[in-house]
Amino acid sequence: MAWDFSTEPEFQEKLDWVENFCKTEIEPLDMVFPYSVRNPDPKIKALVKDLQDQIKAQGLWALFLDEELGGPGFGQLKLGLLNEILGRYGSAPQFFGCAAPDTGNMELLAAYGTEEQKERWLTPMLNQEMWSAYSMTEPAGGSDPNLFTTHATRDGDEWVINGEKWFTSAGRVADILFVMCTNGMFVVPRRTPGVEIQPYPRNHNHIIYNEVRIPADHLLGPEDGAKVLAQRRLGGGRIHHAMRTISNCKLAFDMMCERALSRESHGKIIGEHQMVQEKIAESYAQIRMLRLFVLETAWKIDNSSTQETRTDIAAVKFTMAKTLREVSFNALHILGSLGTTGLTPLQDMYSAAPTMGIADGVDEVHKATVARNVLKGYTPHEGYWPTEYLPEKRRKAREKFQPMLDADPDLLKMADGWSDYMDRRMR
Ligand SMILES: Cc1cc2nc3c(=O)[nH]c(=O)nc-3n(C[C@H](O)[C@H](O)[C@H](O)COP(=O)(O)OP(=O)(O)OC[C@H]3O[C@@H](n4cnc5c(N)ncnc54)[C@H](O)[C@@H]3O)c2cc1C
Repeated sequence: MAWDFSTEPEFQEKLDWVENFCKTEIEPLDMVFPYSVRNPDPKIKALVKDLQDQIKAQGLWALFLDEELGGPGFGQLKLGLLNEILGRYGSAPQFFGCAAPDTGNMELLAAYGTEEQKERWLTPMLNQEMWSAYSMTEPAGGSDPNLFTTHATRDGDEWVINGEKWFTSAGRVADILFVMCTNGMFVVPRRTPGVEIQPYPRNHNHIIYNEVRIPADHLLGPEDGAKVLAQRRLGGGRIHHAMRTISNCKLAFDMMCERALSRESHGKIIGEHQMVQEKIAESYAQIRMLRLFVLETAWKIDNSSTQETRTDIAAVKFTMAKTLREVSFNALHILGSLGTTGLTPLQDMYSAAPTMGIADGVDEVHKATVARNVLKGYTPHEGYWPTEYLPEKRRKAREKFQPMLDADPDLLKMADGWSDYMDRRMR
C-alpha cells in the first residue's frame, strides 16, 4: 500500500535534529544578532560559520538541491517536512542555504546554466559568497507579463538592457540580478553601470536599467526563453513559501491554544467559551487541510514535474494566503490587546497574509489558472440536461434492466413500485 502518511524513522531523526537546532541555536542568535547570515562583521561571520558547519556535517546544506548540485537530493516532499520546521525561525532558511530569492535563482542556474555560468555564479551562491535577486515585475505590468517592456538588444559581444523593474526583493544588496527581459533571462551584476536603484521601496527595489551592458554569455537559457524560465522558477518558489507558511500557521495556532488555556474571563478560562473553541477548531482543521494539500502537491512534483503540477501549485498558493490570514487573525484576536502589539510575532504574521496573496502573482490570477485548467478536464453536456439529470439516468438504467424485468414479474413489480416512489420524490 503506497498511500502513507508516516515518516521514515531515519528521516524523523533528521527532522528532530533540525527542530532542536533551530530552537536552541538559531532562534537565540536571531534574538541577539538579527540578519546575522548576511552580516559582514568577522565575529558574526564566525558565529554563523560555526552553526553552518554543524548543518553541513548533518548533510543538511542547500536542502532544495539534487545531490549532483551539492544538495542532499531530498526532493520536494521531504523538503516540505523540513521547511515546515524552518519557516518558524526567521533566519533558519538562510542558515540552511535554502532561502528565497536565492533558491529559485540557483534552481534556474542549475537547470539552464552552462558549465561556465554554474562555476561563475552557482558555486559561489551555494557557498553564500554571492547573493542574488530576481527582477521580473514591472511598475506597469505586475500580474501580466505580456505588458513587460524591459528588453535586451544585441550589440556585438554584448547585450544592452533598457527597462524598469520594481519589487526586486533585496535588489540593492544583491551581487547579481536575474533580469527577465521580453527576449530572455539575463544575469546582471548589480554594480554594472546603468543599474540605477531607486530609493523606494526600500527592501523590494525599484530598479531602472539604463543602457546596461553585459557580456553575451550573461544570457541564461535560450534566447526568448524568459517566460519558460520564469514559470519554472516561480512554481518552485510558490510551493516553498507554502511549506514555510504551514509553520507560521502552526506557530499562531500554538500561541492561540496556550493563551486560551491561560486567560480567564467571565467566569471561565477563555478556551471554555464556545466562540473561542470555534476559532481553535476551525484553525486546527484549516492548518491540517493546508498541510495535506502542500505535502500532496510536493509529492506530485516528486513523481512528475513542477510543470505537470502547476494547477495544484496555483491552488496551494492562494490557499496558503487564506489560511495564514484566517489563522493569524484568530490567534491575534484570542490574544486580545497583546495580539495587536509588536510584542509577539502575530502582528507580523497577520500583516504578511495579504503580502502572501500578492507576491509571486496575485491570488486572482492563480484562481483563474486553477479554474481554467480544471475546466479543461470537462466537456459541455449535450442538449438541455446535465449528465446528472436524474430522470434521464433512470430512463437509461431502466432500459438496461428491461430484459430482466420482462422475464421476472416480481422484479418488474418492485421496480415499478420504486419508480412511482422516486417520481413522487422528484416533484
Ligand atoms: C513582498 C513582495 C516581494 C516581491 N518580490 C518580488 C521579486 O523579488 N521580484 C519580482 O520580480 N517581483 C516581486 N514582487 C512582485 C509581485 O510578483 C507582484 O506584486 C505581483 O505579480 C502583482 O503585481 P502588482 O503588484 O503590479 O499588482 P497588479 O498586477 O497591479 O494587481 C493589482 C490587483 O489587481 C487585481 N488583478 C490583477 N490582475 C488580475 C486578474 N488577472 N484577474 C483578477 N484581478 C486581477 C487584483 O486584485 C490584484 O491584487 C514582490 C511583491 C511583494 C508584495
